[in-house]
Amino acid sequence: MMPNISLRYWDPDGEKFGLPTWPVKMGPDPEVLATVRQLKQRGLRPGGHEPAGQLGWRISGGDRFAYLYPVARAKPRRPMTEARWAAIAKALRARRICPECNTEQNGDIPRKTGRCDDCEDRATTGLAGEEPQPAEERETKPPVSTDQSEARHPSRAHPTDGGVSKHD
Ligand SMILES: [Zn+2]
Repeated sequence: MMPNISLRYWDPDGEKFGLPTWPVKMGPDPEVLATVRQLKQRGLRPGGHEPAGQLGWRISGGDRFAYLYPVARAKPRRPMTEARWAAIAKALRARRICPECNTEQNGDIPRKTGRCDDCEDRATTGLAGEEPQPAEERETKPPVSTDQSEARHPSRAHPTDGGVSKHD
C-alpha cells in the first residue's frame, strides 16, 4: 500500500509527537537516520539504542510510524551461525511432524485439524481403529462369588445363627 504523505507528520522538533517526526519520503538523510529495514539492508541493527526520530504516514484512518535510528551508532547484525540455522531448521521440521502418527509430512501440519491428512482421514472416516476400551480389567479379575474356596472354610459357615433365632 502506498504511504499517504501528509504534512501532519512534519514535526522535526517533536513538539507534537514527542519524537522528531517527518512525513515518510521527506525524512532526514538515510545515511544519518535510518529505519530498521534500512539498517537491515546494510547489515546493521539498532543495537539497543532508542530511536532518534520517526517517519509518519497515514494508513486507513490511523497514524503509522517507523522509528529512525542513528546509523553511526548502529551495530552489525548477528551473523547466521551454523547453530542458528540448525535451530531454525529444527523448528521448521517440528511443524511438519504429525503429533498423532509422529511422521514428517511434506508441509506444515494443518492448524485446523492439528494432525496430518492421513490421521484426519482415518479419524473422520471411522477407520482410525477406535481403540478397544480396556475391558481386560474386569475380565482378569477373578469372579467374586465362586464358592469353592469359601465353602471349605468351616468358620464362615454359620448360616443358622441369626436367622433361626429371629424366626422363633
Ligand atoms: Zn498423522
